[in-house]
Amino acid sequence: MAGVSEAALTVQSRMSSDPMVNKFIPISQPSIGMREKELVLAAVESGWVSSIGKFIDEFENCFARYCGTEFAIAVSNGTTGLHLALAAFGIGPGDEVIIPDLTFVATANAVAYTGATPVLADIDPETLCIDPGSVEALITPRTKAVMPVHLYGHPADMDAIASIAKSRGIIVIEDAAEAHGAEYKGRRVGGLADCGVFSFYGNKIVTTGEGGMLTTNDPTFYNRAKRLRDHAMSSDRRYFHDERGFNYRMTNLQAALGVAQMERIDEFLARRAEIMAWYRSVVRTSDVVRLNRVQNWAHSAFWMVCLEVDRFDAGTRAAFIQSLKQRGIDSRPYFYPLSTMPMYQQESLPVAARKSRVGLNLPSFFDLTKSDVERIGHVVNELIEDASLR
Ligand SMILES: *Cc1c(COP(=O)(O)O)cnc(C)c1O
Repeated sequence: MAGVSEAALTVQSRMSSDPMVNKFIPISQPSIGMREKELVLAAVESGWVSSIGKFIDEFENCFARYCGTEFAIAVSNGTTGLHLALAAFGIGPGDEVIIPDLTFVATANAVAYTGATPVLADIDPETLCIDPGSVEALITPRTKAVMPVHLYGHPADMDAIASIAKSRGIIVIEDAAEAHGAEYKGRRVGGLADCGVFSFYGNKIVTTGEGGMLTTNDPTFYNRAKRLRDHAMSSDRRYFHDERGFNYRMTNLQAALGVAQMERIDEFLARRAEIMAWYRSVVRTSDVVRLNRVQNWAHSAFWMVCLEVDRFDAGTRAAFIQSLKQRGIDSRPYFYPLSTMPMYQQESLPVAARKSRVGLNLPSFFDLTKSDVERIGHVVNELIEDASLR
């Protein structure tokens, strides 16, 4: 095997027609079809390769329509989208923004970029999203915004958050980077608060390579965010700027990919739900071994398949991930709580700490087959039995 890269082996085994060959199953992989290629090529050939072009408009329009919002703004990625949203709401030094302890680090970094302080709330053990009770306890006169994250595709309890925030004039920004198409009480995420922010990174539900989107119904916010995205250029005096903005624009090439992906979003979500059902039929669960939980008011987008094994500790989970890898199956641990990282270090929050310790994500992507999931499920069952984790 010397000199043969793992990537080469993966490609080779993926191309094999022998179903008994144990191909390496990645945790995530984009689905780029003929239509995506057609539209990206059209964008390239049009000469509109930067951030002006018809695909930007089309992508923004179709995304707003999908989320049921009045407006959408395409941006360079989800992190810049979060930063832009906070900046456009005027959040800055001296302000506090409440976010969940368990999330991807971008949620906290975007707050810190503005000079405001990220304040960490604990999570709800059922949804893995921010716990409204914890939010309420953290509110101070400096609290300017709350940023719930629809973690792993499951929506946060938005009504409970709104009832805490609205009466106090606190802004609510949805970090919907992981939850395109998820529904809360029959309404799609992105349209549930003052603003929604999405990511189109390569492993997200819809991808543009790198990219992001803001969604909103607020015309004042919309105009301000759009101006700040483009260096706050004056609309009547070109190259005059009356405040400091950003270049957070998306390219027309990325938007072309996004338009083609949005034509397939129903198909993407249906497949993710199907994959989840396959996992449920093969993985043996119990009181201490669980797959994704879904509240009766929610439709999860199932961005990630979540396996929780209560008897995991750092060592046994790492060994489990290693054993999966040896059997050709990729997986990844849940996010680490922000409160354990040097930039945001503080006293730990019990639910986030516990969930972070016992959770891992298993493969889920459009081209995963039922037999792939059966293979993964059998290995998972076997490893759990072997380690007496049930
Ligand atoms: C992916 C992600 C982001 C950031 O998106 P990028 O496009 O990678 O910058 C923000 N928040 C959450 C919860 C994410 O999962």
